[in-house]
Amino acid sequence: MSFSQLNDIILKLTDETTVKVLNVLLKHKEIIDEEMVNIINREIEQSLEGFSEDPEQIPRIALKEVRKSLYKLNERSLARYRRVRDKETGYFVYYWSPILERIIDLIINRRKRSLKKLHQRLDYEQRNLLYVCEEGHTPVTFSDAFELGFICTTCGKELSQKDNTITIQFLERKIKELDKELKTGLEELDELVEQMESAIQKK
Ligand SMILES: [Zn+2]
Repeated sequence: MSFSQLNDIILKLTDETTVKVLNVLLKHKEIIDEEMVNIINREIEQSLEGFSEDPEQIPRIALKEVRKSLYKLNERSLARYRRVRDKETGYFVYYWSPILERIIDLIINRRKRSLKKLHQRLDYEQRNLLYVCEEGHTPVTFSDAFELGFICTTCGKELSQKDNTITIQFLERKIKELDKELKTGLEELDELVEQMESAIQKK
């Protein structure tokens, strides 16, 4: 299972450790922080197998770092915890889980924002035809070109309408792609929501 898009978004918002932590949460659904540390360190060891001769040299993750990432996710309402007192030790144990609805919202909102930006850009391209000389010196708007008598201030050559058909076609294609994406690619997360809901009902 991979959440490449989600990973990109989380990486922009936080850091690599938090991406790892979120992936472990998504995989295990509910887990205590100490166990997360073991899992991540096992993954690091496996990925370095054969490369490092001295096991002491392997950079391990500390519980403190994992907790910091969990708090970051909690601050953004992407993860929550359940506190249970250990009957034997008397200490609290924190069971962490991802908040899937919020994670899905996050992805959808990002996609919507990108789509909005593309629409704005397309609108701009369609409304503002630019004028430029054959050398490609600074393109200007129609009113500026008119004031300049359709003569380039740099080289004195004639200014003519710049063809932005390719840009417009590119933007339209991108919008179509993103529009389709907006409704797909979340199946894995949807599946997880269902799994977690049925797990909660069983409790
Ligand atoms: Zn010019």
